[in-house]
Amino acid sequence: MIISGPCSAETREQTLETCVRLAETGVVDMLRAGVWKPRTSPGSFEGVGLKGLAWMAEAKRLTGLPFGVEVASGKHVESALEFEVDCVWIGARTTVSPFAVQEIADALKGSGVTVLIKNPMNPDIDLWAGAVRRFAAVGIPMEDIGLIHRGFSYFGQGKYRNAPMWPLAFEMRSRFPEMMMICDPSHIAGTTEYLYEISQAAADLRYDGLIIESHVCPSQALSDAKQQVIPGELERLVRSINWRREGADDPAFKQSLDRFREEIDRIDGEVFDLLSRRMKIAENIGRVKKDNDVAILQSNRWGAIKERILSQSEKLELSREFLNEILEAVHVESINRQNSIMNAN
Ligand code: PEP
Ligand code: MN
Repeated sequence: MIISGPCSAETREQTLETCVRLAETGVVDMLRAGVWKPRTSPGSFEGVGLKGLAWMAEAKRLTGLPFGVEVASGKHVESALEFEVDCVWIGARTTVSPFAVQEIADALKGSGVTVLIKNPMNPDIDLWAGAVRRFAAVGIPMEDIGLIHRGFSYFGQGKYRNAPMWPLAFEMRSRFPEMMMICDPSHIAGTTEYLYEISQAAADLRYDGLIIESHVCPSQALSDAKQQVIPGELERLVRSINWRREGADDPAFKQSLDRFREEIDRIDGEVFDLLSRRMKIAENIGRVKKDNDVAILQSNRWGAIKERILSQSEKLELSREFLNEILEAVHVESINRQNSIMNAN
C-alpha cells in the first residue's frame, strides 16, 4: 500500500497537479494531504481547512484514487465525511491525547472509513495501543484500523528528525499481529536523503506499506519542505524498493536456511551459557567485595574492560555502538548481581 501526496494542501493547483502526477506514476494506491496542520509554533501555515477537502475530493474524481486526510477533532471527522473521505489518520500530536482520540472515535463510528493511527510523539506503546482500543471499542472493525510508524521525538540531535525505535513498532505489531502497519519514512527522516534507506528497512521488516510526502515543488512547500519529493522521484523511490518474499519453497534454499538457523541456535546457546557463567563470577566478586567491605563500582576497572573490548571493534567486525550497548547491558546486570549479594543478610 503506497500512500502519497503533499504534506499540506496549499492551493488548488498545487494539490491537483501533485495528485494527478502521482496517479500517473501508477505506483500510488491512495492520495494524502493535510488540510488542518498541527504546527509547533503559532503563525506557521496551519492548513487551508475545508477548501483543501474540496480539492482532495476533486483529485479523487480526476484520478479515481481514494484519499486520506489527518483529523484531530470530531468536527474534522464530520467535515471529512461530508467530502467522502476514504481514510483518516490520527497525527502523532493527537495520538497523545485520549480526549481527542475518543472524540474522533465517536465521530467516526459506523462510517466505514479506514483509520490509520500514527504512533504518539513520545515512545509510549500503551498510549498507541490505547488509541487502537478506543476505535475498536466504538465498533470500528479491526480490519478498518491500521498503524503508521512515524518515529519518536527525542531530545538532542540525531541522524533522523524522529528516531524510528524499531523495537517499539515490533512490540506494537506483536500486540496487533493482523493489523496493517505502514511506515512513514518522510516524518522519520525529515530530509529526502534518508527516504530510500528507511523505506527499504520497512520493506525488509515486512511492513504493509509506506506513506511518503510528495509535492510538485518541494522547495516552495509551506510545511515540511525538506522532506518532500516530486512525484517522479517518488516513483523512482517506490520502484527501487525490493519487497522481498517472506519465504520460498525451493528445497535448496530451505536447506541452507535451516543449516544457518541451526548454527545460529547453537551459537546463541553458547553466548548465553557464557553470559550465565560470567554473571556467576560477578556474584563471586560480590562475595569477595562484601567480605572485604569494598564498594561495588570500581570505575577504573570498568573503564579498562570497556576500552579493551572496544579497541577490538575492527578485528571483531562489530561496531563500537553495538559493543557499547552490549557492554552496558552486561555491566548493569553484573552490578545488580553484586548488589543483591552484598546487600543480602
Ligand atoms: C503529516 O503526516 O503531515 C503529519 C503532520 O505527521 P505527524 O503527525 O507524523 O507529525
Ligand atoms: Mn508533514
